[in-house]
Amino acid sequence: MNTWIQIAYLISTALFIFSLKWMNTPQTARRGVFAGVAAMLVAVIGTLINPEILASNYKWIAIAVVIGTAIGVPLSWVPLTAVPQRTALSHAFGGLAAGLVGVAEFYLSFSSSGHELGHFRAAALCAEVLLGFLTFTGSLMAAGKLQEIIPTRPITYKGQNIINLGLLSIAVIGCVALSIDTNYKFIFPVIIFLALLFGVLLIIPIGGADMPTVISMLNAYAGLSAVAMGFVMDNKLLITAGALDGSSGLILSIIMCKAMNRSFTNVLFGAFGQVQAASTDTVKKTVKSATPEDAAQIMEQANKVVIVPGYGMAVAQAQHRVRELYDQLTSRGITVKFAIHPVAGRMPGHMNVLLAEADIPYTDLVEMDDINPEMPQVDVVLVIGANDVVNPAARTNKGSPIYGMPIINADKAKSCLAIKRSMNPGFAGIENELYYADKTLMVFGDAKAVVGDIVKYLSGEGGGH
Ligand code: NDP
Repeated sequence: MNTWIQIAYLISTALFIFSLKWMNTPQTARRGVFAGVAAMLVAVIGTLINPEILASNYKWIAIAVVIGTAIGVPLSWVPLTAVPQRTALSHAFGGLAAGLVGVAEFYLSFSSSGHELGHFRAAALCAEVLLGFLTFTGSLMAAGKLQEIIPTRPITYKGQNIINLGLLSIAVIGCVALSIDTNYKFIFPVIIFLALLFGVLLIIPIGGADMPTVISMLNAYAGLSAVAMGFVMDNKLLITAGALDGSSGLILSIIMCKAMNRSFTNVLFGAFGQVQAASTDTVKKTVKSATPEDAAQIMEQANKVVIVPGYGMAVAQAQHRVRELYDQLTSRGITVKFAIHPVAGRMPGHMNVLLAEADIPYTDLVEMDDINPEMPQVDVVLVIGANDVVNPAARTNKGSPIYGMPIINADKAKSCLAIKRSMNPGFAGIENELYYADKTLMVFGDAKAVVGDIVKYLSGEGGGH
């Protein structure tokens, strides 16, 4: 039986690795998801056939599966824009599971049915519990901030970093003491308490705008917690799967930090995401607006159009209308490309997923670094519900909180059309000069409705032809 379990774990590990590899490109991403699901299924079956599970315990496992399914299925129904907070909730559950397994292993080790803890296993168990419980409360806080159940602004106070590091240090010292002698049983609940508290304190100084990056870091912590659990339970699959989870979370955080030109420490200790005071600029700026019909006429005259989608396109669920617009323009021989910023929307790959859903060819999705050199030759750039990712202040204004963040150079195109509902700022809470520029025309309204009206005009239904 043991051989079968090891074979199942080997297959599962291989599938997890392929899953991550396939998720690298939109063409194979769906296959990657299936591979991940299959890997998890094989892993669960491999674990269930373990003879160490007593027959009488299957009843409890079945109850847990029913409860897990009852929570998991509705979680999958959330809209794409809420996926970051949904992911945070998944990490919270993962962290809680690891923490609870650690608690059970710890107390069982003192009973006749448990395995005695040596120094190494005790250290691994402490790491598992510490990381597991801090991921639990940290992820709940992150989900709460993203869902705006709790205030998204950073909450800071004097000596915050010292207090946080102090608490973490006490917990680590407790772990060291327990690893040396597990008879200091009373330390264990203290470690759990400090981990839960640290998770909360870690998140409160971080602004809403940095939450997706933080979630990805919490993913890394949950992975490391699973690795530690693997050492405690002598389970190789947990070690490899946890390591994959931990490293991919870390890599994703690094990619996101790069895309926003922010350092890790800046994300963790900075207070980005604070709503800025209103501009002190007293010069009255003027905005030029246009109707969907004007926008259609301008695009009809163009040879090359670049569409920059952002969070607003996702909220409005405008991707299918955008596809119709793409069809209308390309059928007239106009070259249409989509400029994809790595952090447009609220999670990496957000725009790719939406545009793929509308069957827009991947080949017309161009990464920021590749499209920017072409911008001066673009006749019309159409910004749909994007703001921060096209804000020239990131290039020019040293005082701006997004200064240094790479952007799509929409301001370098010959003309710009921007669809949004108002002059309200984007996620970073700052004004965008692009919308006041001479070459820019604002088309106010909901992205789905406006793009729908443009399409109607182009297809002749709007009475324009
Ligand atoms: P922004 O949040 O900067 O701007 C979105 C704009 O969409 C708003 O200005 C809003 O204006 C408009 N909008 C909202 N709803 C609609 C609607 N129904 N129809 C039309 N327009 C609408 O989005 P970007 O995509 O430009 O930038 C993403 C931001 O999120 C960046 O600051 C990035 O750093 C941050 N972020 C992204 C992460 C990621 O992984 N993607 C991770 C962490 C942070 P109005 O209200 O006037 O309509």
